[in-house]
Amino acid sequence: MRSALLQNQPLAPLTTWKIGGAAQYLAVAAGLEEVYRLMALAYDRGWPLWFLGRGSNILIDDAGLPGITLHLAKSLQGLEQKGDRLRAGAGVSLPRLARTAAGLGFAGFEFLAGIPGTVGAAVRLNAGADGLDLAGVLQRVWVATPQLQLLEFQTAELNLGYRSSLLLNFPHWLVVEAEFVLTRPAPAETIKRRLHELQAARRARQPANYRNCGSVFKNPTGAPAAGFLIESAGLKGRRVGEAQVSLKHANFILNQGRASAGQVKALVAEIQEEVWRTQGVALEREVVFLPDDLLAANGEL
Ligand SMILES: Cc1cc2nc3c(=O)[nH]c(=O)nc-3n(C[C@H](O)[C@H](O)[C@H](O)COP(=O)(O)OP(=O)(O)OC[C@H]3O[C@@H](n4cnc5c(N)ncnc54)[C@H](O)[C@@H]3O)c2cc1C
Repeated sequence: MRSALLQNQPLAPLTTWKIGGAAQYLAVAAGLEEVYRLMALAYDRGWPLWFLGRGSNILIDDAGLPGITLHLAKSLQGLEQKGDRLRAGAGVSLPRLARTAAGLGFAGFEFLAGIPGTVGAAVRLNAGADGLDLAGVLQRVWVATPQLQLLEFQTAELNLGYRSSLLLNFPHWLVVEAEFVLTRPAPAETIKRRLHELQAARRARQPANYRNCGSVFKNPTGAPAAGFLIESAGLKGRRVGEAQVSLKHANFILNQGRASAGQVKALVAEIQEEVWRTQGVALEREVVFLPDDLLAANGEL
């Protein structure tokens, strides 16, 4: 099947913040061959190529994205057990990965059930929760480069750290597949209980009823958590237009209605300035701004 390019597709509904303009072209790719075809097409035309997973860690500009946006939440969906390994396409959702491991009778993936992202984006950032991260269950990954090469990395080669990896230096590299290890057999009841415990803890600490993108900032090293710093700077409830710092968890920015990307960016800048001024800590964004964060890099294509 050759992937269709849908023109002028709204991207806001494809993100958890429900913010942002349209994609000039939106594409899905069932397999690697179609990924390569899209990469080659973008290269030939001189168009930028953007990767969008489930849009849970991304702010898309109000003007939208030029070129092709590859919608991974609908692409690369393979998920297969091979002995003590579980192979997942980049577009597989983390809750599906966690459910599948649980269904096969293996523990260790429960912490991923509450993270509403895809495998590919999670590898890129070493997503994690509850003191665990992807590095603990990941064996190796395959990455497609704009030169249409397929690179294989063992986990140790990815330099996975707190919300960081080698892949952050290569924004044009697409994670296409990841292999996880199934090492901890456990009774279904034990896994289920753990899933419920983690879900309840998440509900207690995070705002569930509003559109958000999870933690906006990384927790700084050698300093209190970002949420604590933002709260200490007196910013809980601070608004710019319809973007507001959550009253429940200060590292969350809520879209209270029709917030624009411009409003969220202004609020993010205000938080960084105030936390720096009052707490002496420079907060680094975890959330990706598109196209802003990648525009310079795309220029090199
Ligand atoms: C309510 C809520 C709770 C959350 N809780 C957590 C949590 O506990 N822990 C945590 O770590 N995160 C958390 N997040 C953030 C988010 O879910 C994760 O960062 C997740 O890994 C993002 O996946 P995504 O598919 O939504 O990525 P997107 O937001 O679509 O994309 C994020 C970035 O990854 C890039 N990208 C996407 N797919 C690929 C790919 N295949 N290859 C290369 N680059 C790619 C995109 O271009 C973009 O730069 C939370 C978010 C929400 C909304």
